[in-house]
Amino acid sequence: MAIDWDGYISLHEAARQNDHCVVHCINDRCQHSSRLDFEPLLERFDKSTSLGKILKRLRCQACKGLGATPIMQAGSKQKPPTPLFCPIEGRQDHRCDKKKACQTGCRFDTL
Ligand SMILES: [Zn+2]
Repeated sequence: MAIDWDGYISLHEAARQNDHCVVHCINDRCQHSSRLDFEPLLERFDKSTSLGKILKRLRCQACKGLGATPIMQAGSKQKPPTPLFCPIEGRQDHRCDKKKACQTGCRFDTL
């Protein structure tokens, strides 16, 4: 099995897309999946940490195997994504503030 763990996006980049992703066990015969929340990870790791570095250390609750592959949850109209960091490219890096500036996708944010 050759997974390019270092080829994954960083925790920061992942948290700009949504506040969680779904992880699947890399064991084909297992099929176990669960939700991975980014907030607790940001408390433990630097945000520049590669997501792959974390994923390869995840242990499956079902088969006890190591390693998981992520599926980013992009969100939908019914259930919009709730990123932890501002998702707008080129803007100053800041925490997504749902109650204020980021309410409508950061459009009210002053430059
Ligand atoms: Zn498993």
